Amino acid sequence: MKTIFWNVDTQYDFMRTDGALYVPGAEAIEGNLEKLTKYAATKGIFVVNTGDWHYDTDEEISDKPDYVNTFPMHCKNGTKGAQFVPATDPGNVLKLCRYEPLSDREVDWYPLTGLVLHKDKFDIFKGYPHTDFFLDYIKPECVVVYGVATNYCVDHAVKGLVDRKYSVIAVTDAMKELPAPGEPKKTLDSWERMGVRLATTEEVMKICK
Ligand SMILES: [Zn+2]
Repeated sequence: MKTIFWNVDTQYDFMRTDGALYVPGAEAIEGNLEKLTKYAATKGIFVVNTGDWHYDTDEEISDKPDYVNTFPMHCKNGTKGAQFVPATDPGNVLKLCRYEPLSDREVDWYPLTGLVLHKDKFDIFKGYPHTDFFLDYIKPECVVVYGVATNYCVDHAVKGLVDRKYSVIAVTDAMKELPAPGEPKKTLDSWERMGVRLATTEEVMKICK
């Protein structure tokens, strides 16, 4: 597989003003998210959709959240808050929950258009620990990353992919950060220093044929 798209946490609870952990301004990127979703479908580009999928007992969930390591309940398993917004609706793809291994499934990957990987931590590589099995299997030449929040889960995805020597394009107008001093420039600059290519949605649609 040459290029895959990597959609991070574009779920109701993060994307919408009435969501449990709304990322301010996130709804403004939905137009670009929709363009990327449609482009992938048209071009047959495989989409990995990562999403939070929480239970009350998860480490990250707290009644007294510090908003750094712990947060109020969001993306509770099976609720609407955990669903992807229509702009990134993955459709009828294989959904794997948290610690459910890929390796035990007899899946012929290639007819699939995408995957949903449910996680319980910011970092997909920890919150869905079989992510490496999947990447080792398909060995993408380039991973195009977008979603929310830039300075949390997207940051973990980008850095985890770069650590594993994958070539990464970050779609700057299809992601949104949680407010923090210097953001999103601080996070984007750190990616560029690691060799990540920054691109707009329009540029991605020219680069990834
Ligand atoms: Zn979470």
